[in-house]
Amino acid sequence: AELPADTDLTNEIRQVRNTAFSYVNPTKPSNPKLIHASEEVAELVGISKDEIQSEEFLNVFSGKEILPETKPYAMCYAGHQFGNWAGQLGDGRAINLTEVENNNQFFTLQLKGAGKTPYSRTADGLAVLRSSIREYLCAEAMYHLGVPTTRSLSLMLSGDQVLRDVLYNGNPAYENGAIVCRVAPSFIRFGSFEMLTARNELKNLKQFVEYNIKHYFPEITGEPKEQYLQFFKKVADTTREMILHWQRVGFVHGVMNTDNMSIHGITIDYGPYGWLENYDPNWTPNTTDSQNKRYRFGNQPQVAHWNLYQLANAIYPLINETEELEKILESFMDDFILDYKEMFLNKLGLFISTSAQIDNDLTDNLEATLQLTETDMTIFFRNLSSIKKSDSVEKAIEKIQYSFYKIEEVSGDILDAWKKWFTVYLERLNAEELSDEVRSRKMNSINPKYVLRNYMAQLAIDAADKEDYSLINELYTLLQKPYDEQPEYEKWFAKRPDWARTKVGCSM
Ligand code: AMP
Ligand code: MG
Ligand code: MG
Repeated sequence: AELPADTDLTNEIRQVRNTAFSYVNPTKPSNPKLIHASEEVAELVGISKDEIQSEEFLNVFSGKEILPETKPYAMCYAGHQFGNWAGQLGDGRAINLTEVENNNQFFTLQLKGAGKTPYSRTADGLAVLRSSIREYLCAEAMYHLGVPTTRSLSLMLSGDQVLRDVLYNGNPAYENGAIVCRVAPSFIRFGSFEMLTARNELKNLKQFVEYNIKHYFPEITGEPKEQYLQFFKKVADTTREMILHWQRVGFVHGVMNTDNMSIHGITIDYGPYGWLENYDPNWTPNTTDSQNKRYRFGNQPQVAHWNLYQLANAIYPLINETEELEKILESFMDDFILDYKEMFLNKLGLFISTSAQIDNDLTDNLEATLQLTETDMTIFFRNLSSIKKSDSVEKAIEKIQYSFYKIEEVSGDILDAWKKWFTVYLERLNAEELSDEVRSRKMNSINPKYVLRNYMAQLAIDAADKEDYSLINELYTLLQKPYDEQPEYEKWFAKRPDWARTKVGCSM
């Protein structure tokens, strides 16, 4: 991009006007150490297995060295946080190293936790090991679950200590600093557009939207206004697909601010995310959101819609009429509701369409019944695939009851509720054309056996704090095949232990 002659290129924290980014180099880490790298992602971006072990890899992806002929930069964006306009935010602890092309695909390589940028505001630009492990592992787990996401290339220790908390006794609590290199087509967010419109930089807005269309959505053609609408529709469609996957696997993002929404419809910025264990649509892993629960599991589709509304507002000045934008927003919800229904039925192994009424009752009643026994979402749906059309109601309940956290309460009214549900379910299952075996296999490709439960990440973090990285490697390997039976890892197909009942892990 052409920079205006008066562009400020210094690395100072400030309000940055008339630009979408600022050049900034990573802070050199004092003693970088590679903890883990994804061979798969390396290959994707054109780095060989051997190169991962090189000194160059260590230096480049810890921020110690800059690749020749590259100019790292941090992006300027704004956003709505928890429903309120937050003004300029920007990459406060993320630095884009460069863009690479491999096999006709483009990838932006970004370091997270590599030091201050002009957008760091009052914070340090760093990341701690625990949040870096959570992001590194979860992005790869999500990818292998089939959920659109950024990828993780590498996880490094910086060798520096980072201050996050002050203990009750007033002593500072230092933690290991870490740097993750993450990979995506781009890291452009809804908030990137909101920034320009809020500042009334409409020329820049037009240039930025056109840049995005040209580089990331080259299939979009036509009159300018038509292109802008197609662009918005594309973002809405991919966002809808992403949310549908989140609901399928029980992922709760936790901070769906508009600055954390990718224009590619990929999951970005893994902070205080979590996985539903006992099925509860009102659950959020974000302790700072425990009052309003804006970002609770069951509200994610509505929030995505709200966020898209903000993006529509941001590009509105280029279009100057609301009708088409509103149509796209409306169809987002309409389509989501239909897709969600189908997805939920598929999770139940119901693939043919019969009476809509029976299917609606089944899904509605299930959501309520699951909550009576505090039922583990992942284990329930996974074990459901072992039920046969010829099973009795009692046999069916026996097959899924390991998923109940409140197993001692399966009697009386609660048992009756389950019996009632399974009576209808088994009847409906018998209308399915697929054999038990084929249906079971199909269900097992939709309902994962393994997800990155909070306690699993926490155990990996605790071990890593003692310089034992074997659990990071084990979970990484396990979660590359989340739909497969992996007998050697059967211990990870387990309910959350009691000690992990409240949220473990954190965002920063
Ligand atoms: P998040 O909720 O993690 O997506 O962050 C919200 C905003 O705060 C983004 O603009 C981040 O870049 C910024 N931010 C978060 N943590 C830090 C940090 N340690 N240093 C600088 N900026 C940060
Ligand atoms: Mg963010
Ligand atoms: Mg997103």
